[in-house]
Formats: sequence, structure tokens, C-alpha cells
Amino acid sequence: MESLVDIANRLAGNAQWPILAIGLLLAFGFVVLGLLIGKGRRYNLIAGYNRAPDPVKAEYDIAGLARHVGNGLITLGAQIGLSACFFFWEIMIGFALFFGLALLTSLMILIGSRRYMPAYRRLAAASPPDAKHWFLHRTLPTKWYRAIEKGTRQWEQVCRTCGQVQDFWEAGGVRYKAAGEPIKLSYCEACGRGRMHKIRRKQSSRVAPPLL
Ligand SMILES: [Zn+2]
Repeated sequence: MESLVDIANRLAGNAQWPILAIGLLLAFGFVVLGLLIGKGRRYNLIAGYNRAPDPVKAEYDIAGLARHVGNGLITLGAQIGLSACFFFWEIMIGFALFFGLALLTSLMILIGSRRYMPAYRRLAAASPPDAKHWFLHRTLPTKWYRAIEKGTRQWEQVCRTCGQVQDFWEAGGVRYKAAGEPIKLSYCEACGRGRMHKIRRKQSSRVAPPLL
């Protein structure tokens, strides 16, 4: 049996202990921040929101944003804590796994936040399909963006479960100068969940348009 003193000596002999201490402290900080924002509704802890003028604040879906950021930070804290523990015990595969997951979670917190922000909510109110292509809409020149929309609108998706047919662009898809009719997982509005869909060319665009 190892006595407490032995354990303490072994821990002190492990040169990795400062990393464990910093990791656990960070983990604790993220979890507390996550709880304050998500459960405690301390919305002013959210960077960006706290300095926005009141009319802009009103345009946020702040309850949704707080839930998203709060849960994200708690998950991030747990992952950082676990990765620090694995690092300490020199189980590098565990460290790499949870450190990678933590990076992914950080990215998801950032990217997922936009749907609760004023700019996105304004676009979603004005044009839901444009909001579904937020990234392309923001980054591409309008001419290219509309060309991709036009190309994608020649396609439709058919739910393999319920048979619901939906315009592929309206469904949030992108299909430009593509061939073949693949099967893809995407959201079905009729089923209310992700389903396998057949992506096919619309009947109307299968025949050549009449010459004017
Ligand atoms: Zn369906």
C-alpha cells in the first residue's frame, strides 16, 4: 500500500505537475464561467454582448446564446481537465484525444454562436435560405453566390423515410456543376430530424429549356 506521503512524493517527482495544476485551474474556470452564463444568466459575461448598446442587445436571442455558450464552456472545461490528467499520467493518446476535442469545442462555440446574433437573425428573418448559407453569403461576391444558388436550385432532396421533396437550396444544401444523384444525410422538415435523402435533379430541369 502506498501511503499518502509516498503519493505526495511521487506527484512532486513528476515534472508534469505544474501542467496538471494549470490545466485543472483552467478547467475549473471554464466550468464556473459556463455555469454563471448558462444557468446563472450572467449575460454580461459574454464578450461582445456586454458592450453592445441596448437596441442591439434587444436583437440578440440572448437566452439561446447563453445556453449555447454555457454548455460549450462546461464541455470545454471537462475536456481540458481530462486532457491535463492524461498528460500528467503520460497517456498521450488520451491527452491528444481530449485536447483535440477541446479545440473542436472552442470552434463550435464560436461558429454556433452566430445564429443567436443580430446580423444572422436579421438575415434569417429576411431570407431563410440565405441564412442557411450564411458563410457563403458573407464571403463570396454576390454574383458568384447567386450563381451557386441558381445551380443548386436545379436540385431537390427526397426524404427516404417520408418521401418529402424539398428544394435543395431551401434545405440548406449546395450543389453546383455536379453530376450523379447521391444519398446524403440532411435535415427533413416533415420528419423534424436528420434523415437520409436522395439528391436528384428536378424534373423541370431534366429537359432542355425551349429555345426562345
Ligand atoms: Zn422525412
